[in-house]
Formats: sequence, C-alpha cells, structure tokens
Amino acid sequence: MAKCLCRACEETFTSVGAFDRHRTGSYGNAIYKGQKFIYYEKPSRRCLTCEEMKEKGLLQRENGAWGGEKWEDAGAIFPRFAKVSG
Ligand SMILES: [Zn+2]
Repeated sequence: MAKCLCRACEETFTSVGAFDRHRTGSYGNAIYKGQKFIYYEKPSRRCLTCEEMKEKGLLQRENGAWGGEKWEDAGAIFPRFAKVSG
C-alpha cells in the first residue's frame, strides 16, 4: 500500500488525500481587492495535531498510519470494496 511520510511531523498517512487533510493554514497567498493587490497573507502552513486530525475524521490505524476513513466505512466510499452479501 502506498504511504506518505510527512517530513514536518514524521507521521505516516495511508494516502495523499489523508496527508493533504492534515496540513492547514495559509500558503502566504496574495490578496487582491478587485484587480488591486492588497497584501500577502502571513504564511502559516503547518501540520494538524493528533487531536485536530481526529476532529477532522482522520483515524490512526494499528500500524500507526493515519487514514481518511475507517476500514469498516471503506465499502460505503469505495463500493468495489463492499462485502458481497446474500
Ligand atoms: Zn505533518
């Protein structure tokens, strides 16, 4: 399985999507009012804390990697993983 290691916080993620969700804050974007440049946002890009990741719905698996969804729920998100019943 593909894994993403964050060099900033040393946490491991099961997917790029999960990795992206643990990063927050501004890149220091330019702010415009109409066509007129106003200012640059203060760059504040950072990793979420473990508590914040849990609040965002990320879950730490037994192997320590953070994933975007519970395995039990994976079938609802990815129908091809759903158990065939009956
Ligand atoms: Zn990180």
